Amino acid sequence: MTENAEATRMSTPPEGQPSTNHPASPAATAHTTHHGHEGTFVRPSDLLRPRTVSRPKAPPKPERPIDRDERTGLKAIRDFLRVRNCYEVLPLSFRLIELDVGLTVKESLNIMVQCNIVSAPLWDSTTSTYAGLLTVNDYLNVVRYYNLHADKLKDVDKLLLTDLKEVEKFLNVKPPETVSASPETVLYDALRKQLLSRARRIPLVSYDSDTQRTMVVSVITQYRILKFIAMNVKETEMLRKPLEMIKLGTYGNIVRCSMDTTVLDVIDEMVVKNISSVPVVTTEGVLLNVFEAVDVIEILKTGDYGNLTWTVGKALAARSPTHPGIYCCSLEDGLDTIFDTIRKSRVHRLMIVDENNYLKGVLSLGDILHYILVEGQEDAQS
Ligand code: AMP
Repeated sequence: MTENAEATRMSTPPEGQPSTNHPASPAATAHTTHHGHEGTFVRPSDLLRPRTVSRPKAPPKPERPIDRDERTGLKAIRDFLRVRNCYEVLPLSFRLIELDVGLTVKESLNIMVQCNIVSAPLWDSTTSTYAGLLTVNDYLNVVRYYNLHADKLKDVDKLLLTDLKEVEKFLNVKPPETVSASPETVLYDALRKQLLSRARRIPLVSYDSDTQRTMVVSVITQYRILKFIAMNVKETEMLRKPLEMIKLGTYGNIVRCSMDTTVLDVIDEMVVKNISSVPVVTTEGVLLNVFEAVDVIEILKTGDYGNLTWTVGKALAARSPTHPGIYCCSLEDGLDTIFDTIRKSRVHRLMIVDENNYLKGVLSLGDILHYILVEGQEDAQS
């Protein structure tokens, strides 16, 4: 039905009342002008009559075994997340590297590279408080800033982590998400909060009531949470519905690049679209590799911002030989096999390809978390 037809139907008057039209609808405006009825304003809801005849409801379709299993699997995961807290996600032994906000961006980059980490909580030693999470997005912002301000590049080594706020302000980008949770927070609640904020990590911050100070305990990533689920919920085996059927992942408007695209252009796309990777494809659309936001750290560690004019091909060739590679799956895969892969390997995302390696879609860990928390919640409060 067209918009105009809908507007006309909505303006049918109740029996015994004069015809009056909603001035905002195009059809109604034309009608009003024609008859010269300019005065009365009647909201469309006033014109709707209560339905007297109720249409017979179609009988519910019988649930297929695959749907029932999917629902059972999802419920098992949610029940599990409701009885576990954030602290339990942490491994028995782990390290935490916190960076003082007084460090320079260059120093922070060196530490990231030496310690093989891609994010770190910030600590403000002047106030003894947690000051947010430093992530690769901050470095992407720095790159964009100096690209617009080549004249300031000579002072790049003096840029402090505290100056990042100015960089964000200048670029008019949202400051990084500061969502955090206490380690005792129920995992399900922490994840729902994370989902709303679109943050990719949850810093666990505890509060010591004796000293009235906060303390960062650790940072949990989407990968660690999914791995925790994969290791502990055997019902993940029941999630057999193919990605194609559950429409999980992104399929339209995929941001892609070629081996000849410059790193700078890819960074721009990643920041503007708020994505953490860009698949590298041939002109025909065959997947060759994936440029990840974390690849920028390797390029910047030399301090040579000129390297950002490198092509993606050159940047990928400079990757460490220990890079784990790219994980792919097909539209026929279900979350059962994907959880199996997560159980065994450190997966950060999956590229969805067909049997000839043509890129079909991108499946991020955030997409999976969103599905296991939200799917079917509207019709079943499971
Ligand atoms: P991520 O970058 O992994 O945090 O993903 C954020 C959202 O963007 C998810 O819904 C992904 O499916 C989607 N996404 C990730 N990479 C791309 C891309 N290159 N093009 C389009 N969408 C993407």
